[in-house]
Amino acid sequence: MTAMPAAFFGHGSPMNAVERNRYTAAWTAFGQAVPRPRAILVISAHWYINATAVTAMPRPRTIHDFYGFPSQLYDVDYPAPGLPGLAEEISELVKPTWVGADVDSWGIDHGTWSVLVHAFPDASIPVVQLSINADKPFDYHLQLGAKLAPLRESGVLIVGSGNIVHNLREFSFHNPAPLDWAVRADTRVRALIEAGDYRALGDANALGADVLRGIAGPEHFLPLLYVLAQAGPGEPVSFFNDTVISSISMTCVRVG
Ligand code: ZN
Repeated sequence: MTAMPAAFFGHGSPMNAVERNRYTAAWTAFGQAVPRPRAILVISAHWYINATAVTAMPRPRTIHDFYGFPSQLYDVDYPAPGLPGLAEEISELVKPTWVGADVDSWGIDHGTWSVLVHAFPDASIPVVQLSINADKPFDYHLQLGAKLAPLRESGVLIVGSGNIVHNLREFSFHNPAPLDWAVRADTRVRALIEAGDYRALGDANALGADVLRGIAGPEHFLPLLYVLAQAGPGEPVSFFNDTVISSISMTCVRVG
């Protein structure tokens, strides 16, 4: 079996789950282009806690972790099964890093399902989420991501879901025109990725003022590190949906 690709999705607004637009069309096309995975492991910006944990329940619930959106968004259900065996496999694989098994607190959050309803609409492939440990430095996430790479050889699709640039304080709901600093931040991150300089991306102090402005809360950026950590020597890395809306970048990255 050849290694599964890995992908980072810029998920943007939760409304993308119930809309059809150029971004969601590209997510659908991705799902149709990759071999059918045996499971999908998602690192979502929206499971950002003070621990490293993996969902281990057989039937994860669909979590509507947002406020003030139209009711149709609360009606979305993504009934994919879990895969407790994969959660165990992950705990073994990343030792001595400790990963807790979550059997009842989390499930499938909107960072995950807003993308997967488009990429894998039949919800038949098992989904497991890995939390982002908020207590750890950036390079912890790169190193943990690299330890997950063997899963790609056994048909696991590793997905990061966040946004490379994500600053809600400066976001304009009325004017989608990209802010200059946000474009510079997205361009800088893409340039570092193209240069294969993932170490620089794992050092918050090396990223420069524009990038830091876009990752004021780093939870939407960190899933990217898990995906870049998958890139082996010479493995192709490509971009899609590379557009900035106000202060949010929709850029997606595919490895392999
Ligand atoms: Zn989000």
